[in-house]
Amino acid sequence: MDFFEKVGETLSVKGKEAVKKAKEMADISNLSVQISSQEKIVSKLYAELGKAYFELHREEEDGPYASQFREIKSASEKIQELKGEINKIKGVKTCENCGADMGADAAYCPGCGTKASAEEPAGEPEVDDDFDDVYDDAYENASETPLDDIGEEE
Ligand SMILES: [Zn+2]
Repeated sequence: MDFFEKVGETLSVKGKEAVKKAKEMADISNLSVQISSQEKIVSKLYAELGKAYFELHREEEDGPYASQFREIKSASEKIQELKGEINKIKGVKTCENCGADMGADAAYCPGCGTKASAEEPAGEPEVDDDFDDVYDDAYENASETPLDDIGEEE
């Protein structure tokens, strides 16, 4: 076997290995996609089960998952509060019954027909001094996190 035959043989062995490797990688990647799609199904069902369990037992104060219940409730309240802040900025009201967005001067909810509350969320609220202080405090707290810092990599 002369030098060039040797080189040719080496290359073709390496070529076959590369093809095999590439096929393995493609198989692994295909299987990984299938795994994550099955994992998504499992996660979704876990979440549905958890939510169903929560709805069934939400009034129990001392159940086995009391601390998770408290966290869910407090996070949900926070979500409502934050959505309210967005609506305040956008000048829209939220339906007290179904949570749908309503125009600032809508009289009834477009989603469920519930009468809008008389509360005035947009613009300058006419309030007494005590509420003004609370509002100012809330505004100052909200301003403590500069927008520039949000989502910035450390
Ligand atoms: Zn509604």
